[in-house]
Amino acid sequence: MSFSSWICVPITETACEPFLGAITEAARGADVIELRLDFLPARELGRLLEALRERRVGEGKRLLFTFRPVEQGGRRELTLGERQAFWRGLSAEVVAQIDLADFEMDLAESFAAEESPIPWERVICSWHNFDETPGDLIERYDRMARTPAAVVKIATQARSIGDCLRLFALIDHGRGAKPVIALGMGMAGLTTRLLALSRGALLTFGALRRGAESAGGQPTVAELNDLYRVRELTRETEILGIIGNPVGHSRSPLMHNAALRALGRDGVYLPFEVEQVDDFVRDFVRPATRQLDWRLRGLSVTIPHKRAILSHLDRIDETARRIGAVNTLVVEGEELHGYNTDVTGAMQPLDRRMEVRGARVAVIGAGGSARAVCFGASERKADVTVYARDPEKARLLAAEFGAKAASIDAFQGEADILINCTPIGMHGHSEGQSPIRADALQGVGLVYDLIYTPEETALLRAARAAGRPTLGGLEMLLAQAGEQFRLWTGLSAPLDVMGASIFQREHHGQPEAQQ
Ligand code: NAP
Repeated sequence: MSFSSWICVPITETACEPFLGAITEAARGADVIELRLDFLPARELGRLLEALRERRVGEGKRLLFTFRPVEQGGRRELTLGERQAFWRGLSAEVVAQIDLADFEMDLAESFAAEESPIPWERVICSWHNFDETPGDLIERYDRMARTPAAVVKIATQARSIGDCLRLFALIDHGRGAKPVIALGMGMAGLTTRLLALSRGALLTFGALRRGAESAGGQPTVAELNDLYRVRELTRETEILGIIGNPVGHSRSPLMHNAALRALGRDGVYLPFEVEQVDDFVRDFVRPATRQLDWRLRGLSVTIPHKRAILSHLDRIDETARRIGAVNTLVVEGEELHGYNTDVTGAMQPLDRRMEVRGARVAVIGAGGSARAVCFGASERKADVTVYARDPEKARLLAAEFGAKAASIDAFQGEADILINCTPIGMHGHSEGQSPIRADALQGVGLVYDLIYTPEETALLRAARAAGRPTLGGLEMLLAQAGEQFRLWTGLSAPLDVMGASIFQREHHGQPEAQQ
C-alpha cells in the first residue's frame, strides 16, 4: 500500500446499526475510517462483524480496524490473550475488508515472533500515554519500528504546548524510516493534530462531530477539512494564530481562516492554548531561539497574555504602549513587534457614524476594553466619563486619559454616546441583564455595546425600545481583526467574508462566552 497524508475519522458508536450509519457519514470527509470495535458491546460487535462479512462498507475509503483495551485508552476490559484470540478469530471475509489494523505495541511484539493474523504491511503499531509526553519518544519509536509493523503510531497527553515540540521532532525522526503518526492529546496538543500532515505525518484524526471524539482535543473532520484545510498545508505555509488560555471558544480562527481562504493565500490561523507565555515565545516564536522551523508570521494575543507579552517585544507601537496591552504580534525578520488593534476596532464603527470630537462619552467599566475606548475617545478630544462599580478603578483610569470618573449607579443619561465595556449581558455570563437602567437611556444619543454574543443584548434592546440608535460589538470584533490581518499580510481584510464566518455554528461547541 502506498502511504499518503490522510484524515482519519474514528467511529465511536456503541450499537451495530448506528455504527454502520456513521461509517457512511464519515466516508464523505475521511480518507481512512477507523472502526473502534472496542466501543461495541460483545453482542453488537458480533452483529457488526457478521454484517462486514456480507457487504463492503465505507466505499472507496480505507478501513482501519482497532480493538483497544481499557488500559490503552479503549473501552473493553481485555487481556492480551483475548486480544490475540480476537484478531486470530476474524473470518477471511472480514480480514479481506481490513486495509489497516491497529496493534498496540504489546500485541505487535507478541505476534512478531509468529505469524500475524493480519499481513504486517497493513499493521500500525501503536502506543499511548494518557499522563504525559515523556522525553524518550525517539527510543520508543525505534523499538516499535523494530516490529514488522508498517507504521508507528505514538499518541501522548500534552500537558503544555511545549510537548508538541517532542512530537514534531518524532515526525522528523520518522521521515525516511517507517511512516509515523504522532499526536498530542488534549487542547495543548491541538497544534500537532492540525500541523501533522504538513510536517510529514501519515494521518491525523478528526471526530465525526462534537461528542464523537475518540481522544481529548480531537477537532472535527469538518474543522480539519474546511476551517484549517490541513491537507493543503505544507512546511512553507504561513502560520498565524491566537495565544491565550483558554482559546477554545475564540472566533478569531473562523474569521482569519475565512479571510486567508477568500484571498487564496497559503496561510492558516491556529489556536494555541498557552499557559507560559515566556516559554512559548522562546520555543515557538522568536526566530533566534525557537525550536520549530515554521513560517510564523504573527499572533493575536488574548487573555491572560496581553500585558505579559510586552516584555518580549523588540518594538511596541505608540498606541499599545499607552494602553499598556498588546493584542497583535508581528514577526518582522528577527524581531517581534507589538500592536493594539482594539482602539481602531472600537472607534472605527463610531467614526463611521458620528463626530466623536467634543461628544460626551460615557464609558461603562474600567477594564481592558474601557482603556482602549478611553484612549481612542481622548485622542479624538471627546468629553469622557468613566463609570465603574469600583470608583477607585474608575478614578485611576480616568486620570490617565484626562477623563472624569463616577460610580456606575450615578449614570443618569447625560451622554451623547454610551459604551458598555463590561461583560454584563454577555452570553454565558449574565445574558438578559443590563449594566444601565432602561429609564437612564432616554437622553443618550447612541448606545454602543462591545458585547457581540448575543448580537442584541438587553442593553441594546432597551435602547431600541427607547428609540435610541444602537451599535453592537460585532463591528468592533471585525474591525480589530481586519486591522490585525492588515498588519500581518499588508492586505485589506475581506470583512464581509470574515463577518459571515462568525455565524458558522460548528466551531468548538458555539455559541459560548465571547473573548
Ligand atoms: P475586563 O478587562 O475584564 O474588564 C471588565 C470590566 O467590567 C471591569 O471594569 C469589571 O469591573 C467590570 N465588570 C465585570 N462584571 C461587572 C458587573 N457585574 N458589574 C459591574 N461591572 C462589572 O474585560 P474587557 O476585556 O474589557 O471586556 C469587557 C467586555 O467587552 C466583554 O464582554 C468582552 O467580550 C467585550 N469585548 C468585545 C470586543 C469586541 O471586539 N467586540 C473586544 C474586547 C472586549 P472590576 O474591575 O471591578 O472587576
